[in-house]
Amino acid sequence: MKKRSLLVVLAMVMTVLLMSACSKTEYTLNLPAEPTSITLTKDDDDRTIMTAENIQTVLTMLKGSGRITTDESTQDSPSGTTDEIKIDFAHNPEGTSTLFVYKKADKFYIEQPYNGIYEITAEEYDSLSKFYDGLKVELGELADFSIKKRVDKLKVVDQMGKSFKTSELTNDEVLRLGYCLFGPTQNFGFISTTFEDLQRTYLNGWFGRSDCTPKDITCFCGEVISKYNPANDEFTWDDNFHYLDHSAKSYDEIIEMYQIEDRYVVKLYKIFPDIMMNSNPSQFNFYPTYNDAVNKTNVLFTVTNEDEFENAVKSLDDSKKTSYTMTFKLVKGSYKLVEYKIND
Ligand SMILES: [Zn+2]
Repeated sequence: MKKRSLLVVLAMVMTVLLMSACSKTEYTLNLPAEPTSITLTKDDDDRTIMTAENIQTVLTMLKGSGRITTDESTQDSPSGTTDEIKIDFAHNPEGTSTLFVYKKADKFYIEQPYNGIYEITAEEYDSLSKFYDGLKVELGELADFSIKKRVDKLKVVDQMGKSFKTSELTNDEVLRLGYCLFGPTQNFGFISTTFEDLQRTYLNGWFGRSDCTPKDITCFCGEVISKYNPANDEFTWDDNFHYLDHSAKSYDEIIEMYQIEDRYVVKLYKIFPDIMMNSNPSQFNFYPTYNDAVNKTNVLFTVTNEDEFENAVKSLDDSKKTSYTMTFKLVKGSYKLVEYKIND
């Protein structure tokens, strides 16, 4: 009898213990199984990784030996933190998720919004921070020179008026960009070209597109700027060189250039003058985007001569400018544009 009552008491104690443990919800850190890319952001700077090796490294660091907590996260993003690294995952096919790694009151955490807050060691934080720092690689002199030259020559892509990945441009768009890059040729003016040359030098050479088919080339506004003659594989310019009406060569100011994995990244500011068809011979307006120059909106400043322009550019606050990111890949000795991004 005595033994039995002892068992009953024990069972009751166990139940109470179990209940108190259960009243605190346990959270488990959820990491995407196979993200397509991960963007790490720290101090207003960001680095995107896409190689399987780097993605795996980050996932392994975050996972540790498995993370469980009873500390609930009830917000979109943490506050009162220092040394924060924001981590954005892009998932396949579509979708994103975010978590934060940070320091707070001399302790380190991973916070998954509306999930949990997981304490990590200082060493774990340091290895992630070091990994982040090591991602950005400085360019050699030759790469620096070649890419700057390419950026300068690629001003025609501004006329797309949008962010794009080169692989997603239509046949018409790639043809138009390639053709406008081709002409006019220095000292020769507007000469004709064959599709074969266009394909080798620009469509494939500069944009990495080898899937284009030749046809008449139309302007952004729909007007035909070049006729294609299949008999001799030749493109010839229209007599009015209509495409020049749309041109507005930007003034570029490179912010930084670096390499991440196999990508070469250029961040720059652009300032656009009026497009040719809008220009006024006595005063010159400048805009943060090509579309603003077309629509005459968001004027940054107006000047009447070169000196005024120099001064206006010097005193223009960076926050008023629009920054752009151009990403290249080096293939067979040629820097191919893979992405053009207007950072709003
Ligand atoms: Zn046009």
